[in-house]
Amino acid sequence: MDVTATSLSPRKKTHQISVGTVKVGGDAPISVQSMTTTKTADVDGTLQQIYALAANGADIVRCTCNDQAAAEGLAQIVPRSPVPIVADIHFHVEMALAALEAGVQGLRLNPGNLRKPEEIKLVASEAKDRGVPIRIGVNAGSLHPAIYEQFGGATPEALVESARLELAYFEEVDFHDVKISVKASSVATMIAAYRLASETFDHPLHLGVTEAGPLPGGLLKGTAGIATLLAEGIGDTLRYSLTADPVEEARAGRQLLEVFGLRERKGLDLIACPSCGRAEVDVIKVANDAQVALGELNIPIQVAVMGCVVNGPGEARHADLGIAAGKKRGHLFIRGEIIRVVPEDEMVEALVDEAKKIAAEGVDARLAAKDLGAEAEAAADRALLLDEKGDDANQARARIERIRHRSES
Ligand code: SF4
Repeated sequence: MDVTATSLSPRKKTHQISVGTVKVGGDAPISVQSMTTTKTADVDGTLQQIYALAANGADIVRCTCNDQAAAEGLAQIVPRSPVPIVADIHFHVEMALAALEAGVQGLRLNPGNLRKPEEIKLVASEAKDRGVPIRIGVNAGSLHPAIYEQFGGATPEALVESARLELAYFEEVDFHDVKISVKASSVATMIAAYRLASETFDHPLHLGVTEAGPLPGGLLKGTAGIATLLAEGIGDTLRYSLTADPVEEARAGRQLLEVFGLRERKGLDLIACPSCGRAEVDVIKVANDAQVALGELNIPIQVAVMGCVVNGPGEARHADLGIAAGKKRGHLFIRGEIIRVVPEDEMVEALVDEAKKIAAEGVDARLAAKDLGAEAEAAADRALLLDEKGDDANQARARIERIRHRSES
């Protein structure tokens, strides 16, 4: 059964802000963010990456603004970007002011390394005048030393206190367009920190496990932290921090929201059985080939690849489209109903062809166009397989017979 947004805890309603055209918080869809890895001064290279990120699910993209050349690059990137741009600021207040001058739609400040109250208030005032929101981006690894000492480490309470102090400076200049992150590389610390932040603030929360590392471990850590919080109704925007092509971050963020039913599916959701001794085909190969071929279509469809015809169509009856292998043939099915039987080496091709037709004509029209002999052919294949392998793969009945025989004798 699909896990959908209705099965999750109700989302906490936060104060809504606008990052350019993207609303964050309140009842706005949870947004996906990523960060470029190019030098921001390399305008064309950075724009190329921004377009790739947007195409793969990023709603907002962050670029570092670490020197004058980066700020000048932002002035050219922002007007050509398909999504709002947030400038990432560490240490240098003048870079925050330059990024605002460049026209960015958001700033991220690290309270751990931008510490002078007058400078923080100056940036907040400038941002307020331009209607640009700021993320207070607390990070366990670069926590303000005084707070670290006060709390005896980068504890969840310390991370939230750092955000609270920064927020107090913003409030002094009547600036409220703020989102907050309290990231840590420890998943347990991050979860506790965000839970506390959600109780403490009404501002939108930007979720993330920082420095999660390369795939697949980074993906697991990011998902463990972000998914736990989303299921509790916490979080308004998110970023996976992976040591990988940032396109992977955008894809992961988008897919996580789609599997939770928190964003509409934009592309393929391929489900496949894990394969077992009953499999009539190399399920891993067929699933991988189907993933590549169908992924290119950009059709919002759930497709199942099942290793055997005996259990496959029934187990995947919720899928829009699927194929199950048996007797060197593939049983193509729509919502569990067999529509065609195809040769084994044409299974992926048949899936692609039918997915396109479903996208163009709809599921009902394709069910109406099914091959009328398909169900009988499929039933014959199933019967043959059961005959050959038996429907008692684990020989339970034979064992029971033996047990009974033993007890009678
Ligand atoms: S669908 Fe068939 S092959 Fe795949 S795991 Fe289930 S029983 Fe095994």
